[in-house]
Amino acid sequence: MTSRVSGLGRALSLGLSLLLLAGCQTPQGASADKAAKVPRTASEDSGLELLPEQAAYDVRHVEVALQVFPEKKTIAGTGTLTVAVLSALDWLVVDLDPRLKVSAVRLSEGEGPAAAAIFEHRGPRLWIALGRTRAAGITLKAAIDYAGAPREAVRAPWDGSFVWAKTKDGQPWIATACQGEGADLWWPCKDHPSEKPDAFTLRIRVPEPLVVAANGRLVEVVPHGDGTRTYHWHTDYPINNYGVALNIAPYETVTADYKSVAGETVPVTYWVLPENRAEGEKILPEFIAHLNFYERTLGPYPFRGEKYGVAETPHLGMEHQSIIAYGNKYKGGTHGYDWLHHHELGHEWWANLVAVADWRDFWIHEGLCTYMQALYAEEREGAMAYHHAMYDSRRRIKNEHPMVPAGTSSMVKMSDTLGNEVYMKGSWIVHMLRYLVGRDQAGEVLRRFAYPTEAAARSTDGSACRIVTSEDFIRTANTVTGRDLGWFFNFYLYQPKLPKLVAEIEVDKVVLRWETPEGYPFPMPVEVEVDGRLERIEMPGGRAELDAARYGKAKLDPNLWILKETRLMDVMPPR
Ligand SMILES: [Zn+2]
Repeated sequence: MTSRVSGLGRALSLGLSLLLLAGCQTPQGASADKAAKVPRTASEDSGLELLPEQAAYDVRHVEVALQVFPEKKTIAGTGTLTVAVLSALDWLVVDLDPRLKVSAVRLSEGEGPAAAAIFEHRGPRLWIALGRTRAAGITLKAAIDYAGAPREAVRAPWDGSFVWAKTKDGQPWIATACQGEGADLWWPCKDHPSEKPDAFTLRIRVPEPLVVAANGRLVEVVPHGDGTRTYHWHTDYPINNYGVALNIAPYETVTADYKSVAGETVPVTYWVLPENRAEGEKILPEFIAHLNFYERTLGPYPFRGEKYGVAETPHLGMEHQSIIAYGNKYKGGTHGYDWLHHHELGHEWWANLVAVADWRDFWIHEGLCTYMQALYAEEREGAMAYHHAMYDSRRRIKNEHPMVPAGTSSMVKMSDTLGNEVYMKGSWIVHMLRYLVGRDQAGEVLRRFAYPTEAAARSTDGSACRIVTSEDFIRTANTVTGRDLGWFFNFYLYQPKLPKLVAEIEVDKVVLRWETPEGYPFPMPVEVEVDGRLERIEMPGGRAELDAARYGKAKLDPNLWILKETRLMDVMPPR
């Protein structure tokens, strides 16, 4: 368990990754200093090893019914968890930040009546006594009444929970973001990426005229006649804990219908601040163009049975399921499109449809989304833009730690050790795979990793949502290509060192060979440029012999396909 986290290091390591993608200045200065002073508690990490009591149940449904008090910056209400017991259980243990005080817990089994339960808040977890041992196979429902001032985010989305901002005319503008610390900062949950509630209901009561934009479908808005109203949202799709979000402001909406490649018409809504309505109307077609790019590249938008939503947020952005947080202030990006929206939308496939079981495999979320931006640059501007994007990532890869650490890994551990690596080196895994197996097969690997079957791609009932590991990605690549690519993935995922490409003249031959740590087998082909033409040199056994007369002055890997020991300045000038 981590009891204290380095606020500055963490904020910078996560913060840099997104900001550098945008080509921004590094976020050093006043705001980062402020983040360093935020005290950290045990609740402020996600994905720590589960207690046996937590591994013993599976969350089926959650309802969070909260009243939000913007002036006091507090919340009050009830979180109701319906769980299936997987193995005999005496205590129901859920994560909940002790900043939130629990006043009562009601417990019921199956369809039985609810009764008050004894509970104890021990540090970051709430222990609910079940009175007697509950057997595997039964369903329990725990309704937890709680209230308090939730943790206030200082630099969301890099530190989390509630952001209490104001619109230009001073009205409340509130958002939640909790990927790093976990949803237990504002509702009771099992704070681990392997746990996805199968369905989720939100009933959020706010002062009028505030609007709540959240996940799934808006079921109803209930006025209470006292200047408040309740927004009732519901999703029938499995959802990551951190994917659940509240966005509260005097929003207006900009809407459109989008025809999915799968045939359905998907309602698209952008919840925009009134002062930015004109900008909102202007950017909606771009949001839809991004949606279409992803559908053509990976398969249908996964949550088209409900909606595609974007909410304008006071923080930069986050991949909240079917309600993407957008806070890029209409600034676009260096490649002529809004990189932030494009990045977060990519997570609807790589995070929300396909989610990692443990944060150790975080590169699957961030690396694949980073790679998607290079592909989009290629589609818009051609090969040079693609290679520029990959070069930009290459310069930030450090190779100090294995990209997939051994054993389980919490979010804090990942960001403290790897930081940007999951974005940059993660994108390079797919880039190299593309050279190794060809563009068509690499594209097919991505499509099959998103949707293993055509039936999964066609489904709209949530059955396509799944939880994966790096090993699943390797299996998909092997299946699609009909090859054993274990040597490639094992080399780049599980150890940090790079191969070195050595070229030596031996009489009338050029001998090309890969030098690897401990002689690890590395039959990676190499692109060479001879007389202005590109050739692919196969390297069986990690070695090739070439005619010195022809290849003596060949340029090796001029397009930088392979992550290896490289003097980058020799290859391509930085932009
Ligand atoms: Zn991301």
